[in-house]
Amino acid sequence: MSALEWVLAALVGSGLIVAVILLLWATAQRRRVGLPPGRVVYTDTGAWDRCERPLFSRRYLLTGKPDYLVEERGQIVPVEVKSTAPPPQPYRSHVLQLAAYCLLIEEEFGQRPGHGLIHYQGRTFAVDYTPELRAELIEALEGMRDDLSSADVLRNHESASRCWACGYREECEQRLA
Ligand code: SF4
Repeated sequence: MSALEWVLAALVGSGLIVAVILLLWATAQRRRVGLPPGRVVYTDTGAWDRCERPLFSRRYLLTGKPDYLVEERGQIVPVEVKSTAPPPQPYRSHVLQLAAYCLLIEEEFGQRPGHGLIHYQGRTFAVDYTPELRAELIEALEGMRDDLSSADVLRNHESASRCWACGYREECEQRLA
């Protein structure tokens, strides 16, 4: 195994949701529109099975652990649960996070989910995993890798509270708090 593969294996083993953290960080730099809207659905949360282990893709060097995996008509569907009140439409970052889980299901189970679910307090949205959303995700992942090898990556937000809670605050020259 290469050094990179050892690192990835260690991260997967520890259950870190590396993909999600890096994805949110990187994709927030890309101002795009056209992500599929979510539609409200009614689901029985009692029937959801917790996802017990992180999913992993060697091809995309991606790992992440959806909150739940649901079987719907023979399809495995990822579910992301948010503790916040429901917005009118799912946030873009949440849609991309869900898309990453759909990609991981593709890789692990060999079948592409038609959609995923984002559950906010009292409301659940279904988001179609379209070819366009998949392409957007792949592009974001490529951008993320470019940024990782870049010496200087600009801050992508104006939130002082986010910096305040950030573990890199002491070293970061772009911190707002
Ligand atoms: S402290 Fe730096 S790395 Fe952390 S959130 Fe703020 S700008 Fe980003």
